[in-house]
Amino acid sequence: MTSLSDSLVNRSRSRPVLSRYKPNIGNLDQLQSKRELFFKSDTVSGGGVSASVPPSAAPPAPPSTLKDALSKRSATLPEPQETNHVEANGIATKHSNSVSVDVSKPPSTAPPPTPAPPVPISAPPAPVPTPLRSTENIMKKPEHPPVAPKPDLPKIEKPKTKELDGYVGFANLPNQVYRKAVKKGFEFTLMVVGESGLGKSTLINSLFLTEVYDKDKHPGPSLRVKKTVGVETSVVLLKENGVNLTLTIVDTPGFGDAVDNSNCWQPIIDFVESKYEEFLNAESRVARKAAPPDTRVHCCLYFIAPSGHGLKPLDVEFMQRLGDKVNIIPVIAKADTMTPEECKDFKEQIMKEIGQHKIKIYDFPESTGEEGDGADVTKSLRARVPFAVVGANTVIEQDGRRIRGRKYPWGIAEVENLEHCDFLALRNMVIRTHLQDLKDVTSSVHYENYRCRKLAGLSHDGKPHRTNSNKNPLAQMEEEKREHDLKMEKMESEMEQIFQTKVRDKRAKLKESEAELARRHEATRRALEAQARELDERQRALNAERAAWERDTGLSLDDLRRRSLEANSKETVDGKEKKDKKKKDWSFKSVATGISI
Ligand code: GDP
Repeated sequence: MTSLSDSLVNRSRSRPVLSRYKPNIGNLDQLQSKRELFFKSDTVSGGGVSASVPPSAAPPAPPSTLKDALSKRSATLPEPQETNHVEANGIATKHSNSVSVDVSKPPSTAPPPTPAPPVPISAPPAPVPTPLRSTENIMKKPEHPPVAPKPDLPKIEKPKTKELDGYVGFANLPNQVYRKAVKKGFEFTLMVVGESGLGKSTLINSLFLTEVYDKDKHPGPSLRVKKTVGVETSVVLLKENGVNLTLTIVDTPGFGDAVDNSNCWQPIIDFVESKYEEFLNAESRVARKAAPPDTRVHCCLYFIAPSGHGLKPLDVEFMQRLGDKVNIIPVIAKADTMTPEECKDFKEQIMKEIGQHKIKIYDFPESTGEEGDGADVTKSLRARVPFAVVGANTVIEQDGRRIRGRKYPWGIAEVENLEHCDFLALRNMVIRTHLQDLKDVTSSVHYENYRCRKLAGLSHDGKPHRTNSNKNPLAQMEEEKREHDLKMEKMESEMEQIFQTKVRDKRAKLKESEAELARRHEATRRALEAQARELDERQRALNAERAAWERDTGLSLDDLRRRSLEANSKETVDGKEKKDKKKKDWSFKSVATGISI
């Protein structure tokens, strides 16, 4: 039977993007074991860890409670046996794509571990998800008795390459893929987080060389500062050489602007996870689309204030909490406010703190498939993280050149000049060379982590979602049925409400048109009555005029009519006689000439 773990391992194996993820520490065994423990823990029954569970594995990094719980549980169980995981090791370790530097001493600012909840021995152990890129919380390998060697798997022979006699056509496959991709277009969701006024909107406009942020719709920072953190999205369709990119910008106005900023990252976590949830639901539908719309957040530009003093506690907290949920790229805002030396020191300080706090940021892969100069350039740009950027919406003319930059009395800070700032490096890395990788990592690492947590019934902090995991399955089904019925009832009542509203609207409209008809009928009736009255009036006037005329002339209209009739009839008789006479004359003439008429 194919287990969840197998399918996930196979899935990750089939993703070429993972092949170049480096683990942050050298011990590949440990990483794989950690991942495998999660998968194997699914197969554990009756409180016993299966013999194949690697003892060296640690529970997932985020939930310290789970780690404790698992170790407690392991203590009550027979010692698991060591197994050989050479094949899987290679796969799991390839998942790591984030910068996560282990330091021997944890920072004093790290939150204290929460006490583990008591774990019932009889309860089946909860599956423990492992953040695929995490390198933390790896337990030491205890001693274990040797295990029987695994049966040899059948060797898969590599197919031999054969030369073709002619052109078949599959060499055109890449073109087919290209055309399909171009036709479909691309989607990319970029989130910008940072205090207001750090130049987020200016940088986004500079990145895409257009007013992604409309001045009318997107007022300046002071107008947008809100008391609570909001998440706003704006979608723009960008076109370049016939390639369409649907760009979604996610802004987080209000972040870090309050006096008390505790939990101001929560709306952002909720947003990121809601997008994963949407995608998971779309994927799990019975009638699902081949490729559901991908609205997941692919990249988060985190803006650090150019204070010169390193990260603020809020920066650390945010990046720690979001690092395993989204690809974070740290960006130093308004780099033109620092000298090159200050900027260099500030960058070093930030990277040091990122390491100290075990913050996971997006690790640009060294190789992007480009060779030669392209690869070298990528390498050098990669070294510029965190990118110190300058943003500007103005284009300045200088020596016949049009420069995007910020003009000062002492010169111009050019946005697209690598000697002035890292804007070009950021744009090249995020859009030109690594956009697809950002999407792949989101899908194969962050989303997979979310999916594992979700399927294992754990919330984002690693604590179990459901308290009823020990319930009898029948009771569970019963409960789910009840929930379903409730949901259906709710839907029904909502539909009923909608129907009632529609009926009400229709009735109101009918009443309105009835009133309108009555109004029109009344108006027509009144107009006709007025016309009738006018006609009566005119009739009366005519009669009076006629009587006056008869009086004046001594004739009546009837006499006049009679006379005219007589005159007419006389005229008719005369006319007839003349006609007869004419006819007779003609007939005589025709007889005489022999012409028939
Ligand atoms: P947002 O609130 O983070 O979106 O910040 P805005 O993009 O609205 O920028 C706030 C102010 O900072 C504006 O006056 C910008 O002109 C200015 N600004 C933006 N980018 C830079 C920069 O790189 N350097 C400097 N010195 N000022 C900048």
